[in-house]
This record gives sequence, C-alpha cells and structure tokens, in this order.
Amino acid sequence: MDQSENYSGVENVVIVGSGPAGYTAAIYAARANLQPLLITGFTSGGIPGGQLMTTTFVENFPGFPDGVLGPELMDLMKAQAVRWGTKLIESDVISIDSKSKPFKLSLLDGEIFSNAVIIATGASANRLGIINEADYWSKGISACAICDGATPQFRDAELAVVGGGDSACEEAVYLTKYGSKVHLIVRSAQLRASAAMIDRVKANDKITIHWNTSVVQAKGNDWLEKIEIINNKDKNVKEVFVKGLFYAIGHTHNTNFLGNQIDIDEKGYIKCKSGRPETSIEGIFAAGDVADAEWRQGVTAAGSGCMAALASERWLSERNLSRLITREQPEPVKSHSDNNFIEEEVTEKTFDMNSEWQKGSYALRKLYHESKKPILVIFSSPSCGPCHVLKPQLKRVISELNGKVQGIEIDIDKDQDIANQAGINGTPTVQLFKDKLLKKQWKGVKQRSEFKEAIKNLI
Ligand SMILES: Cc1cc2nc3c(=O)[nH]c(=O)nc-3n(C[C@H](O)[C@H](O)[C@H](O)COP(=O)(O)OP(=O)(O)OC[C@H]3O[C@@H](n4cnc5c(N)ncnc54)[C@H](O)[C@@H]3O)c2cc1C
Repeated sequence: MDQSENYSGVENVVIVGSGPAGYTAAIYAARANLQPLLITGFTSGGIPGGQLMTTTFVENFPGFPDGVLGPELMDLMKAQAVRWGTKLIESDVISIDSKSKPFKLSLLDGEIFSNAVIIATGASANRLGIINEADYWSKGISACAICDGATPQFRDAELAVVGGGDSACEEAVYLTKYGSKVHLIVRSAQLRASAAMIDRVKANDKITIHWNTSVVQAKGNDWLEKIEIINNKDKNVKEVFVKGLFYAIGHTHNTNFLGNQIDIDEKGYIKCKSGRPETSIEGIFAAGDVADAEWRQGVTAAGSGCMAALASERWLSERNLSRLITREQPEPVKSHSDNNFIEEEVTEKTFDMNSEWQKGSYALRKLYHESKKPILVIFSSPSCGPCHVLKPQLKRVISELNGKVQGIEIDIDKDQDIANQAGINGTPTVQLFKDKLLKKQWKGVKQRSEFKEAIKNLI
C-alpha cells in the first residue's frame, strides 16, 4: 500500500481510542482509502481495546451466536482495521489544539497534525476514594472482577462488590465462582440493574446484599483483610471480613484531554447534534460511549463509529482535504490476529529448550532451572483483557531481542500453586528472572520499552 504521493505530514483523519467505536471508525475510514491513524490509548483512559477488554463473554454482539470473549472481539476488530491499512500508535492523547488548522494532537511522545479528528475515548472505571484505598489497590482492591477474580487470594474467601447497577450485579455473580461468599454493597435501597440481572443476584445464595450502605475504609496488613461499612440511614458502622473489594461504580467519560474546547453536556458527555457525530467544532467528530448518555453498548458504539467515519470522509472531501492512498492490490492480504487464544501448554514431549515463547508450568520449571538466558514470565488469566494487550507486546520484545531472552506464560487459573509461590495477586503480572533470581516485577500494562530496557541490562 502506498502513502499518498503528496503526503505532507498531515493525516487525513486521526481516531482517538481503540474501543468498538474507534476500530469501527478506522475500518470505514481505511476502506475509504483515507489511511487513518488510530491512537489506541494506553494508560490515562483505559487499556487499548477499551471496556470490552475487561469482560468475559459478550453475548449480544451480532454475528456471534454463541457469544465471543470481549478481548477476542476487540482483537478481531483491530485485525480488521489493520488489514485495511489503519496505522496504530500505542499512546495517549494529552491534548488537542482545536484552533490550529490542521488540528494539533499532543501525545505522550510527540505531536501529530490532522485535518479531521474522531474522538472515541469511551469511559474509565471510577474509584471510591475510601481511606487506605491506595495502600490496598491491587492488594485486595480492584476495579475489574473479571480481570482479577481468579487470583489465588480470592479463592474460597469472602469478597465484596460495591455498586448497584448491571456491572455490580454481573461481577457479584461472577465472583461467586471463586469466593465463598460475596457481599454486594449498595448505596441506596434498590438495584439499578436489568430485571434479569437482579433476579440472578437474588437467586444466588452466595450473595448477601447490604442495602443503604457505603464503604468507609479498607484495613489489613500486607493484603486487604476487612472493610469498614456504614449504614447510611442509622449510621451504624461495622466491619466485614473480606479479602477482595471490587469496584463497579460506573465510569467517567474520557474527555479531560479536550480541556474546555468542545461542548460537553451536564453529565460530562460530548454534545453532538441529535443522532449525528458532529461536535461543536467543525472537523472534530465523536463516537461511542464518550458521546452517548443513553445506550452505551458495544454495538451502538460500533454503529456511531461508522457514522463518524462516513461524516468525516464527507467533510474532508467537501473541503478538498482528503489525500487518498492508492492500493497496489485491491484485495488486502488476509488479516492475522496477534493473540493466539488457544495456546497449548507444553509438556515433557513438546518442550523446546530454545523456543522463544512457551506456555505452562513445565516450561517454567525447566527454563528456571536450566536456562542461562533471562526469562520473562507473564502470569495471566483467560478472561483478563490487559493480558491480551500485554502478551503480543512481550512477544514482540522477545522477538526483537533475537532469542537472547525466553518468554513463558502461566495461566493462574490452571497453575494456582505456581501463582501462589510467585506471590501473584493480580493479572497481568510480569516477572523477569536471571540465574534463578527475580530481577524485576511489573503489574499491569506497561510500555514495551520498560521491559526491553530491563532485559537488555541482563544480557
Ligand atoms: C464489564 C463490562 C461489560 C460489558 N459488557 C457488554 C456487553 O456484553 N455487550 C455490549 O454491547 N456492551 C458491553 N459493555 C459496554 C461496552 O463495553 C461499551 O459500550 C463500549 O466498549 C464502548 O465503546 P467505545 O469505543 O465508545 O469506548 P471504550 O470501549 O471505553 O474504549 C475507549 C478507548 O479510548 C481509549 N482512550 C481513552 N482516553 C484516551 C486518550 N486520552 N488518548 C487515547 N486513547 C484514549 C481507551 O484506551 C480505549 O481504547 C460492557 C462494559 C463493561 C464495563
């Protein structure tokens, strides 16, 4: 595929955000030969792939009669966008200068200029701000039950979920798979979830609902041991012994980077013309949850991403601003998704001492004891979206280092003993070993360069 001959360092359209809205906008803009640039987001507004990376099965997205894992759906959307020529940058947008023409976008690392912009930055999980929250964050407190529920510390332990909507109910039910009991802490006297979800919660005898209740503080030693809760009516305070506290208290729209340049409604959503993607600034369009106070679904986000791309294409061409690419071949090569969802654990028979990437405890034990190279271990769980983001990044780092480091994936669901021994309390956790010594540990998604730097120091 060729970049337009008169490419001047100015993009046709930059899409900010890699949820269903962003990737759908990218697919449409790419198929219109606009070769869009998509900024995936990285830390400030949630992980690449967006909110569906934090859920298990999506059962209402058309085309998947038996449901599809959220991270898998997002991998497929990404592969489709890339197949048609979308360029990706893994970074956050820090600010947009909407007065400059073309628009100037400042990223974590550099600046980009674009004639049109589509904002598809969705929303990110809220925190409660209770006493000791920072101390127990990832040591019992989590904003993603789906990501962290399988952690060994939560097995057969009492757990709590805060919130009263669909997410809180879904997470409470999900956590009964792991915990011995789940306390659902609800601020008011009713749940705001769908009737079917409320029925599921009420029918589950492992869930106890605490009505009119708020969490005051977290307590424990190295790990969360209990929470203090207060009844909002009679002000009665009591302690509940839980090893996990999961927040499901809604999301905040990712609009901070816009400053006050674009009209926002009273709830914080980007204001658009009714049913349309145009914002208050000509040439800037919005799609998905960031501009949707009502529907907030994967499929509605995707639909609005499509509208934003078509509207931006029209807007660019009416102003003669599009620089279209020409394709050498009308049919792009087949896509490939960079996450392999069903990777086999290696056994004594399939283990390869020189392989760059293997899965399972057998490989870990062998390489830990016998490899002279640094070994990078990612502790993951199948439903952990951030793990899906991180795995291809680590594989890329390992391949760029030309066999000087070896990677291993441990599924903490399957290898609980190993996870326990390694002190794993959330996924993804990455540990770097050399000569049987733990050299460094990372929790969550980090920049590729951080891993590379640490490994290079050991080679
Ligand atoms: C637990 C859970 C389960 C759900 N289950 C379902 C379901 O089963 N079916 C369904 O249809 N919907 C479901 N939803 C809702 C669905 O996830 C959202 O409606 C949808 O993801 C919104 O898509 P979006 O593209 O607008 O935004 P998001 O998915 O929120 O994506 C936003 C993107 O913007 C990026 N970003 C944010 N700030 C910046 C920045 N400054 N710079 C660059 N990038 C940035 C983020 O990294 C992210 O990639 C669920 C939501 C949750 C939380």
